[in-house]
Amino acid sequence: MEKGGIIKHNQEKAPKTGDWRYLKPEIDAAKCIGCTTCVGFCPEAVMEMRKRSEQESEVSAQFAKEKEIVEIDLEYCKGCGVCAQVCPVKAIVMKK
Ligand code: SF4
Ligand code: SF4
Repeated sequence: MEKGGIIKHNQEKAPKTGDWRYLKPEIDAAKCIGCTTCVGFCPEAVMEMRKRSEQESEVSAQFAKEKEIVEIDLEYCKGCGVCAQVCPVKAIVMKK
């Protein structure tokens, strides 16, 4: 592989972790500013940005209303908590 090449995550080959995961990340729509930081750090590549729902836009901080919000595929999330650690505004909380 050439230097700087990107290894793409193949979700079809990834094990489903939803059954044994101990902690589950929860996004606080009122805090998320749509910065995408967590997406790049997730070791399972299960985070994606999506459009905010009307309800999520209502509770979002003024400057975040037009931005996307992050969504997690919990079927493949292993609950490692990296996303919660790197979020600059602590919009992700790990829950049992
Ligand atoms: S807990 Fe870990 S695997 Fe799950 S979304 Fe966050 S960084 Fe990704
Ligand atoms: S959850 Fe945190 S790190 Fe992820 S997009 Fe929202 S503000 Fe950024």
